[in-house]
Amino acid sequence: MATKKYQIKATIFDKRGKIVSQAKNDYSKTHPKQKIFACKAGENHRIFLHAEILAIIRSKGKGESIYIERYDANGKPMLAAPCKICQLAIKEAGIKEIRYTTGG
Ligand SMILES: [Zn+2]
Repeated sequence: MATKKYQIKATIFDKRGKIVSQAKNDYSKTHPKQKIFACKAGENHRIFLHAEILAIIRSKGKGESIYIERYDANGKPMLAAPCKICQLAIKEAGIKEIRYTTGG
């Protein structure tokens, strides 16, 4: 298994609070959608899939809210506020509520 400094997990819920999709960050995969939003955010080099973008792709437009979790190597929660790229993607996907771990 590859060594990871931290892990990010994004979960998208529908209007009734049911899980629509889930994803983890993957620094070995790229996706055209990630690239589109990276360019929109002016961060063209950040082409590797963020958990939020992958969850949005999998949610097929059914998302109402998103919960982003980030943990360090010891499983301690860390601040998981979405980056500029993901904020754009979340907005465009019509997701209205963003929640995330804030850490200690
Ligand atoms: Zn991001």
